[in-house]
Amino acid sequence: MTKHIFITGGVVSGLGKGITGSSLGVLLKNSGLKIFMQKFDPYLNIDPGTINPIEHGEVYVTDDGGETDLDLGHYERFIDVNLSKNSSTSAGRIYYETLEKERNGKYGGKTVQVIPHITNEIKQKIYKAEVESKADVVITEIGGTVGDIESQPFLEALRQIRMEKGKENVMFIHVALLPYLKVSGEFKTKPIQHSVKELLSLGIQPDVIVARSEMEFEQKLKDKISLLCSISVENVIECPDSDSIYKVPLIIEKGNLHKIVAKQLTLNLKETKLEDWKKLVNNIDNSKDILTVHIVGKYVELSDAYLSVMESLKFSGYEINKKIKFVWVNARKLTEKNLKAELEGAKGILVPGGFGEDGVEGKILAAKYARENNIPYLGICLGMQVACIEFARNVIKLPDAHTTEINPHTKNPIIDIMEGKNRENIGGTLRLGRYVTSLKEGTIAHSLYKQKTAIERHRHRYEFNNNFRKVFEDNGIVFSGLYLEQDLVEIIEYPKNDFFVAAQYHPEFTSRPNKPNPLFMGFINAINKK
Ligand code: GLN
Repeated sequence: MTKHIFITGGVVSGLGKGITGSSLGVLLKNSGLKIFMQKFDPYLNIDPGTINPIEHGEVYVTDDGGETDLDLGHYERFIDVNLSKNSSTSAGRIYYETLEKERNGKYGGKTVQVIPHITNEIKQKIYKAEVESKADVVITEIGGTVGDIESQPFLEALRQIRMEKGKENVMFIHVALLPYLKVSGEFKTKPIQHSVKELLSLGIQPDVIVARSEMEFEQKLKDKISLLCSISVENVIECPDSDSIYKVPLIIEKGNLHKIVAKQLTLNLKETKLEDWKKLVNNIDNSKDILTVHIVGKYVELSDAYLSVMESLKFSGYEINKKIKFVWVNARKLTEKNLKAELEGAKGILVPGGFGEDGVEGKILAAKYARENNIPYLGICLGMQVACIEFARNVIKLPDAHTTEINPHTKNPIIDIMEGKNRENIGGTLRLGRYVTSLKEGTIAHSLYKQKTAIERHRHRYEFNNNFRKVFEDNGIVFSGLYLEQDLVEIIEYPKNDFFVAAQYHPEFTSRPNKPNPLFMGFINAINKK
């Protein structure tokens, strides 16, 4: 029987519920259990695919093409399980599906209400995760903070599931802030008490409190939280800030969170094997020398928009005991005039994915600078497209070369829309998810992946236009990866330079701790070598 762990957040958002849940997942997985994770988000967008990354961070893409919340990236990186579309559900999707059923007459003339119709829909998602994942434990995170109006139907659904299945099958973990007041030099438990009260008013008594604090705290505070929140004292888990999120599994292991869970849910744990995590943490702590990477993007004021890219670079750095320093270059402000000043001395240039016109000319200039100065370049998705446009304009001498995403009338549409995709409907019409790239022997890509194919995730609408393949090759570009079934370009290289590689797919979504994606590793090694 699948057991459930529900993770709620208290007092403020941004406490790292996702990291806490993932870390617990690591402990349980490494104790021999099969784990599945999912997230419920209270917002009304049907999925995060159309939300501006400034608002909500990056869109994380799953193998099956789900456009999901960035927390799914944490889940996958921590528990190293490929999750699915079903791992991310917004309130919008729940309402949408409910209303669709209503329109189709599925409710047989009944009044459709939040309780029971919306809550039943939420419960169905949870049962479905059970059946599809066949996991021993499903960990479900509820986005937002307890007390938000939007999250109430979710909490009500969880309350019902606990009632149906019992305490030995369903567990509530509340991650809440324990603030430290500098003026009086003490921790304050009152906010936690209030958020537990809020949960109680919804009929939920948490089983565990993970107290998130700036630093470690004394036993007497655990006693106080225990007494006032009716939780046994060993179930109050300390989780102080850490300089790396990858240390959190080891922190909560000290608090025995996995054992507490196993006891309540009557799970048999094998010995918890954390050698890999300890190796990672060792590598992190030993990474003292710095490698600098210039990232030319348009959301440089908010790095959450490029979270998986950053984590992938960091993982690659840890492999060779290097800490990565990110230099953010705002593509919107990059011009022919300031290009040199902005990028002079850059050791490696990365242009990540993106949509729309903003910043594209700046990204094209960055690709040019990297090519002309033999600076290691990694282009991702739009980063590949701009490298091709730049090459067409400045090497093949087609000055109006462009992508039809931005200039639909160019005579040289180097990047063009795929047949059958329509431009008007921007939600859910992209090439999404996993496709197999065949790698050409003798290329950098082939030598990095060390195999004939690479399975990687996509999220884009436009493709390299095959009519230009020949002229690119004649001018020195190598198409080192192709999606053979539809003859689409997946990877380009410019072998004249030491490392100039760009992919139509997103290698950042398959990087894992201790297992960085080969393109990132190649890029970081190339920077290090220089
Ligand atoms: N805007 C481009 C496209 O739709 C690139 C997308 C991306 O970088 N993810 O093809």
